[in-house]
Formats: sequence, C-alpha cells, structure tokens
Amino acid sequence: MKIAIIGGGASGLVCAIEAAKTAKEKNVKAEITVYEAKDRVGKKILATGNGRCNMMNLNDCNYFGDNAFAKSVLQKYDAESNLSFFREMGLYTRADEEGRVYPLSNQASTVLDVLRFECARLDVKFVTDCEITKIKKAENGFKLNDEFFCNKLVLACGSKAQVKNFCGYELLRSLGHTVTRLSPSLTKLTVKNSQLFKALKGVRHKAEISLYIDKKQVTSEKGELLFADYGLSGIAVMQLSAFVSRHFKNSETLPVVSIDLIPDYDFSFIKDTLRRLSERNPEGTADTLLMGFMPKKVGEAVLKECGIRPDAKLNTLGNKELSLIVSTSKSWRHEINGTKDFTDGQVVSGGAVCKEFSSETLESKKHRGLYCTGELLDVDGLCGGYNLLWAWSSGRLCGKSIITGDNR
Ligand SMILES: Cc1cc2nc3c(=O)[nH]c(=O)nc-3n(C[C@H](O)[C@H](O)[C@H](O)COP(=O)(O)OP(=O)(O)OC[C@H]3O[C@@H](n4cnc5c(N)ncnc54)[C@H](O)[C@@H]3O)c2cc1C
Repeated sequence: MKIAIIGGGASGLVCAIEAAKTAKEKNVKAEITVYEAKDRVGKKILATGNGRCNMMNLNDCNYFGDNAFAKSVLQKYDAESNLSFFREMGLYTRADEEGRVYPLSNQASTVLDVLRFECARLDVKFVTDCEITKIKKAENGFKLNDEFFCNKLVLACGSKAQVKNFCGYELLRSLGHTVTRLSPSLTKLTVKNSQLFKALKGVRHKAEISLYIDKKQVTSEKGELLFADYGLSGIAVMQLSAFVSRHFKNSETLPVVSIDLIPDYDFSFIKDTLRRLSERNPEGTADTLLMGFMPKKVGEAVLKECGIRPDAKLNTLGNKELSLIVSTSKSWRHEINGTKDFTDGQVVSGGAVCKEFSSETLESKKHRGLYCTGELLDVDGLCGGYNLLWAWSSGRLCGKSIITGDNR
C-alpha cells in the first residue's frame, strides 16, 4: 500500500511514524512518503515556543472551531499518551506550573530530531522542495501533481499562519470539502485610538487585561503586555486575540479591552497611597505619582488620558483627580478594531469542516482513503501547547487508522 502525506510538519511526521509502526506490528506492507514544500521537514516546529517548543499542555482546554470533534480525538490520544510516544523515542520533558510541557533540552530542534530519526528508522521517505498543488482521484487511489500515485492520502498541510504561499485550502476545496471562514489567531490586537500608544512603543508592563464583547466580559488574562504603535501584543494579548478573531467573523461591533495596570493592589490602597504621596510632597509634579507602580511612559499616558498635565503640582490635584487617575490605572479601556494579519498569527482560526471527516479515523466522509489532520482542520487552541497537542493527537490517530481502518 502506498501512503502519501502532504506536509512534513508536526502532524504529518507523527502520522508517518504511527502508520509505519502500526504497519510493522500488523505485518502490513506500507510505503510511506512525506511530500514537503520546503527544503526540509518540520521548519515550523523549530520556531515554536520561541525555539523551545511548548510541545503540549497537561491541563484541559476547550478548542475553538469544532471542540466536540477535537475532544473526541484527544480522548484517544491524550497528553499522557503523547508523552510516552516521545519518551519511547528517547525524548524527555518538563512541565511548568501552568502545565506547559517543554523538552528537557529546552530546544525545539530536539523534538524535530527525534521525529526525523524515527522516520528514518522506520523507512519513511521524504520528498522535499515538493509542493503538491494538484490532487486527482485515480483508480484505487490518488494522483498528486500528475506525477505521484498513492492508495491513501493524508492532508497534513497545516495552515497559512506565517506562510507565504499556501494552497492547502484549495486542495481541500478541489476534493469537494468545505473550508470555514478563516482568520488569524494568537496574534496582536490593533487599537482604534492608538495615538497614546505611539509614545509607548516597545514598553513592557505586567498587567491584567480583560476582554469585553458586546459589553459582556469574555475572558481575562494576566501577563506581560508589550505596547506597540498600533496597539498591544504579548502572550496575554495573544490569548484574547483568539476570541477577537472569532468575533470579527460574524460581527462588526468593536470589542473593548480593559487594562488593569496595577493588578496587585486594589482601588482604595492605590488612592490612599497617591493621596499620601501628594501630601508628602505638595510641590512635586503629577508625573511622579505613578512611578512606583508602572513604567514612567505608561504613567504619563494614563495622566494624558485623564487630561492631567504631567507638570501639574500635586497640591492642585483634588479627590476627583486622584480617583480618576486610579480608576484609569485599574481599568484603562480601549476599543479594538482588528487583529494583525495571517503573517503575524501563530495559528489560523477556521479550516476544513470537521464534520466532513470521521472523528474515529479522520477519514473523509466524501472520499475513501483521504484523511486530514492538524491545523488544516477547523480546530485551534490557545497558547500554551494546545495547538501542537492537537497536531500530535490528530496525526497519530490518522496514522494508526490508515493501517487498521479504525482507531484500535
Ligand atoms: C511562531 C510560531 C510559534 C508557535 N509556537 C507554538 C507552541 O509553542 N506550542 C504550540 O502548541 N503551538 C505553537 N504554534 C502552532 C503550531 O506550530 C501549529 O499549530 C502546528 O505546527 C500545526 O501542525 P500541522 O502539522 O498541522 O502543520 P505544520 O506544522 O504547519 O506543518 C505543515 C507542513 O506542510 C507543509 N505544506 C503545506 N502545504 C503543502 C503542500 N501543498 N505541499 C507540500 N507541503 C506542504 C508546510 O511547509 C509544513 O511543513 C506556533 C506557531 C508559530 C507560527
């Protein structure tokens, strides 16, 4: 049996390994080839987790897109099962306090190396610099680029996140599959009135950021914010972008973020402190008030938002002004008018309609012998290792079921 896998990324490589291992176990003759558009396989893996590869997460999370489909697959291949899959190949890991799993080497290249070596051990063939742009049904299988024949075909092309030319969605459509609306996710947020942000470009500050959509709080994240001239970035913001991105698919109302710049202290403590500092140094200026709580530039932006001059004498600030400074610091609100584009997002929200594939085998319900895995399907998760977990689990389920016809 000839098996072709389009895409030598996270899910394609584990799919190849699981198929090859299962074929050996079951004494099935299988020739497995991974077709990869780039000059080598697994390049995206190298970029993950800032080069450290946040391989998975031990905590549970809901996925965007088809969560029920994702959960059904992840039940069969959960984080623990993926950890033993990697341990078997000699890769050991460490989890941090938030359940994020990294290789002990702290190097994404180790993850790719073990996968490559395992593919070599199992005789999986790689054809690199080979973008598959055309798939035709053929007798007993498929023809790729009018050149390569296979009996079973896996689409493991990933997504167009940070990819220049991507034809994965066209391949799906050419086979009669439906692709949902696509938008970039795990990306930066652009702020409608970003004038104040120009002066803050490059400033980092730990804060709590809450997202409101149609006046309802949707989620909240603590973490480091990175200010940019267009708006906001940083891990906490990327998490929020997953919700913003989905929202803009169906609505034009602008979400609002509320930033608590001093999350560790409450309103009355901060107000008492500011009053004490003002009384202590009445001739001092307003720009010194917040300096113990946040970077100077952020404090200046807060004063500007409140309409208070940075050189205003502290003895001119009354109860009203101090309250305004504290409430703005605790809840600095900004309308969000978009996200950065696909070249910026870590993943794509949207993809192949999952219901057109079996959650037991990942085989297409339209064409026997056609499978789809990983990010190409309409499943995406938050930052923290959930997207790679999905890639490993779906890839492995697919690899196994290609050989056995089911997930056993
Ligand atoms: C910068 C960055 C950092 C990230 N960090 C993390 C992280 O730390 N943890 C986490 O869980 N997730 C992370 N992600 C997301 C994660 O990398 C992806 O969700 C995951 O790699 C998806 O796996 P996949 O196999 O579906 O696709 P990919 O890993 O993208 O692999 C798809 C492969 O298919 C190839 N291909 C595409 N089309 C064709 C074609 N037509 N013909 C031949 N080959 C083709 C591509 O070149 C690619 O090699 C990150 C993403 C980015 C961009």
